[in-house]
Formats: sequence, C-alpha cells, structure tokens
Amino acid sequence: MAGEGGGPARGARVVLCPLPFQGHLSPMLHLAEALHARGVAVTVLHTAFNAPDPAHHPAGLAFVAVPDVIPEAVAATNNGIAKVLALNAAMEASGHVRDALASLLAEEGAPRLACLIFDSTLSAAQNAAAGLGLPTLVLQTGSAACFRLFRSDTYDMLHDKGYLPATESNLHMPVEELPPLQVRDLFDPSKLPNKEIVHKILSRATETRTNSSGAILNTFEVLESHELAMIRDELAHKGIPPFAVGPLHKLVTSNDGGAETSLLNQDRSCIEWLDTQAPGSVLYVSFGSVVHVTQDEFMEMAWGLVNSSKPFLWVVRRGLVLGVDKQELPDGFMSAVEGRGKVIEWAPQQEVLAHPAVGGFWTHNGWNSTLESIYEGVPMLSRPIFGDQLPTGRYVRDVWRIGILLEGVLERGEVEKAIKKLMDEDEGVEIRRRAKDLKEKVRMCLDSSGSSQQAVDKLVDHILSL
Ligand code: UDP
Repeated sequence: MAGEGGGPARGARVVLCPLPFQGHLSPMLHLAEALHARGVAVTVLHTAFNAPDPAHHPAGLAFVAVPDVIPEAVAATNNGIAKVLALNAAMEASGHVRDALASLLAEEGAPRLACLIFDSTLSAAQNAAAGLGLPTLVLQTGSAACFRLFRSDTYDMLHDKGYLPATESNLHMPVEELPPLQVRDLFDPSKLPNKEIVHKILSRATETRTNSSGAILNTFEVLESHELAMIRDELAHKGIPPFAVGPLHKLVTSNDGGAETSLLNQDRSCIEWLDTQAPGSVLYVSFGSVVHVTQDEFMEMAWGLVNSSKPFLWVVRRGLVLGVDKQELPDGFMSAVEGRGKVIEWAPQQEVLAHPAVGGFWTHNGWNSTLESIYEGVPMLSRPIFGDQLPTGRYVRDVWRIGILLEGVLERGEVEKAIKKLMDEDEGVEIRRRAKDLKEKVRMCLDSSGSSQQAVDKLVDHILSL
C-alpha cells in the first residue's frame, strides 16, 4: 500500500470537516488516520472549540482551526438539533470555512486538493466547498439503517401512512415499510420542541447526500447487509457510490483505545479496579457524551444497580442528570455497593469494553458505543433515549439479537430484572453467544482483505479519480 503509515505518496489531498461533538469527531478523526495511512494527504478543518489534539495523531496529519462558535444561549440548552443548526448558520455567516478551503486550494507545492469530506450534519461546509467547485463526500457517523430513515421523503411517507405523529395507541405498531422498527422507534417530530426544525434538518440531510460525490458509512457489510444493499440501489440511480468502512475506530491498528480522540480526561483508575473483578462479571454503564436522564431516572438506575447484586462500573458524567452539573449519589448507595461498584466521570471506554472482567454494557446505544460493544463481543442492555439510538436499540434486540431492550418508564425492579437476565439467565447466555459470533464477523471485515478494508481502498481510488 503506497505511503502506508508514512504520509502522502498518492498525489492527492483531502480536507475533513467534523461536527465538533464526541460521537461525530471520533469517527471523522479515525477516517483521517485511515486515509493518511493509505498515502492520502489529510487536513482536518475543525472548530477551535472541542478541537482535536494534533499531538495524539500521526505527525503528517495537518490541522486547521476556524473560530466559529455556537452562540452561548443555544450552547447552554439541551437541544442538539438547535446547536447543529446554529453552528451551520455561524459557518455560513462568517465564511471562515469557505476562506480556509480557498486558501488550501490556492496553496502552492501541496498535493492536489481532491475533495472535502464533511459530517452529514454540516451542510454549511458542503455549501462552502460547492461554491469553490470542490467535490464533496459525506460521512454518515450513524448506522446504515438510520441513513435510510433520516430523510425527508421517508418522513413524508411515515406521515402519509399515518404512523406519525405517534399516538399512545400506535406506539407498538410495526412500521411495515421499515422492519423491524416500531412507531416508538421513530424520531418523532411531534415530541420535539419544534417540528419545523426537524423537517428542516431532514431536508438538509437529504440534500447533502444528493449533492455529494460519495457517501461514507461507519458500518460494515455483515452487520447491515440488507440496509447497505438498499442504499447502494437507491444511490446508484444518482451515481453516488457508498463505502461501508466501519467500524472506523478499529480501521487503523495504531489507534490508542479511544484516548486519542476523547475530549474529556479518561479516568484510568477503573482499569485497575476491573483487574480485581472476576471474568465476565461486571456490567459497564455509560450513556455517552450527550444524553441526559431525569433525577427520577437516575435514582431508578442507582437502586436497580444496587438491587441487582452485580458488580458494575458506572460513568456518571458531568451534566448526565438534567439541570445538574455534578450529580450526588443517593445516600447509602456507596456503602450498599462497597467492593462491587465503581463510579467515575469518564472512562477509557474502548479499553473497558475490551477488559475480560466486563460481561455486559448498559448503553444508550449511541452508534459509536454500539460498534465498540459489538467489536468486543459485549452483549448490551439497551436504553436508547432519542434520535438514532431508538432504531439502534431495536436492531440490537430484534435483528442482531445481542441485547435486551429496556423500554418504557425506568423502574428499579425492571432494571434489576433486566440486569440479572443479561448477566445470569439462559436468555443472557444465548445473547452472549451471538455477541461473540458477531465479534468474529466484525474482525473478518477488518482483516487486510476484509470488506471494510476493501471499501477504504475503493474510497481512496474514488478520491483519486475526483
Ligand atoms: N466515551 C468515552 N468514555 C466514556 C463514555 C463514552 O470515551 O466514559 C466515548 C465512547 O467510547 C464513544 C463516544 O464517547 O466513542 C460516545 O459516542 P456515542 O456515539 O456512543 O454516543 P454520543 O456521545 O454521541 O451520544
């Protein structure tokens, strides 16, 4: 492979523009490293806030910052969609992304700038590139299933057929057009503060892919072969090739277990603690970097964990509980779980999931967490909260059958039952067996001749042809 590990040898350069949130930043940076390892020159064009640390990446990767920010009033809210729209608006208004791209295009003596690879939510970056005549490739950091779901035409269909807006009586209804989804798995605009905003963002998502010269998906063939086949079919009509290159966090083997892309300090004391626990005994609990739970839900989680009698490692990140910066644990909690429970603010998650003591992952089913769990063969207790997490939780339970889905109001008795089922009971044994099978399959996709590595080779050829 020309230029392997040693920087550019292919005469082409790409600019990668990530959305500056953990779950979007990490896969884009891993893609950057994979392209760099194949001899493509890579510049990461990022915001100055939540900036990646160049010291954690190969020396040949270039980093350029733009000063665009999300206005404070929006940044302080819990509304992720509003944040994305505000950042796009700031980028459009300031022209910083356009100016940065223009100066990279004008750079003398550098390899030819072939294209911009942008996060699917950053339409402003795509528009800036289009204005300069630079081709674009879109990176979808979620699943192939969600790539199909989150489109304005799919939503029109869901409304036309009466699935949306969801009502109490149709929540459990299967969506025949999108098996195995049920109405309650849909990203229902009626539950969000502003329907128009949701429609706007879905129309933009649809437009960004139609205007792209290729779509890169952080998934792998064996996992979503049916969804990928349909995407291939749909995009073929538009001449847009899709590339299933996931799981991106394991595409480049020099990856440092997630530390290289983490925006928060990872508390490594938990690894020593895991070393003292029996193999397969610990439930790892983390809801990622963005979602919130209510105070009541937090209490039900805490007492469910206590009552389960199982060892656990719980990430209570700052801000996890709505409206609270640093959440206190309930009185009596730590003494009730002494020796079998550890609570930290942020974990080296990939390393935790790879640890032999970990036997289950109670997760919100963010796509990165889901892929990281699948890669390590760790079965899941799914508690999806919003957006793409809901369909992913359904796939975990009904398609891949590698987890248990915790739905409805969170209640300590149900939590206790679900934990015991996953960690101890016959159903859990079967789920664990399937998770181990899938682990073998994902590793095959990442072998040197596996489908994901081949897809990256094709992606590089495609970039060189632009
Ligand atoms: N993560 C981590 N430490 C933690 C919790 C999460 O490093 O304590 C990482 C995790 O490995 C994953 C990312 O944060 O790569 C979360 O992304 P995901 O898509 O799962 O969820 P999001 O944060 O976007 O909701």
